[in-house]
Amino acid sequence: MPTSHSVAAALADVQARIAAAAIAAGRAPGEVTLAAVSKQQPDDRIDAALKSGCRLFAENRVQEARARWTGRRAAHPDLRLRLIGPLQTNKVADAVAVFDAIETLDRHRLARALAEEFARLGAARTLLVQVNTGAEPQKSGVAPDAADSFIASARRDYGLPVDGLMCIPPQAADPAPHFRMLASIAARNGLAQLSMGMSHDFEIAVRCGATIVRVGSAIFGAR
Ligand SMILES: *Cc1c(COP(=O)(O)O)cnc(C)c1O
Repeated sequence: MPTSHSVAAALADVQARIAAAAIAAGRAPGEVTLAAVSKQQPDDRIDAALKSGCRLFAENRVQEARARWTGRRAAHPDLRLRLIGPLQTNKVADAVAVFDAIETLDRHRLARALAEEFARLGAARTLLVQVNTGAEPQKSGVAPDAADSFIASARRDYGLPVDGLMCIPPQAADPAPHFRMLASIAARNGLAQLSMGMSHDFEIAVRCGATIVRVGSAIFGAR
């Protein structure tokens, strides 16, 4: 079990590696934001990351995130949370209450439900479309060849403020072609946020244009 100290050290190490990868790619380190993936991690590790100054976290389950973060949010008003797991339409109101950004928009029913919730609140959230770059049947996300029309429809038919794209490349594959595909879909749709790269491949993602990397086990240790 990592101690508080080792979470702090690992966090600093990941931040340094992100900055080095950005500089090596001719990018400014400030162009890449680290989201610490805290799903399934014990409280002491999360509190160690908070103590080290980390203020952006990502979770894949709505209920788990609400239980974990409601109190910590009150103590840290500058905290921001991103949803990176699949979202069911019946959990949309809870998700919008808990998260500042939702990275997993991938179907029309969900687009409609989010639009209705934003209208009810009179406020939107940062929204990313998940693209299933590997066209894996078991994985969430819009098919790559349907991405342009889905993004257009989310904007036009539902009035949603699409801010960017997210992907999870197939496990065994070279991630670079997937990251480049996501970057090119974003570029031709005028989308600024590119959420890609995890513990094992975030430096490659930074080289391919990631603006947000989602890193869990490299910071917190194994889940
Ligand atoms: C769990 C998870 C991550 C973090 O994975 P690590 O390998 O622990 O860095 C990133 N993105 C998504 C969508 C995840 O579910």
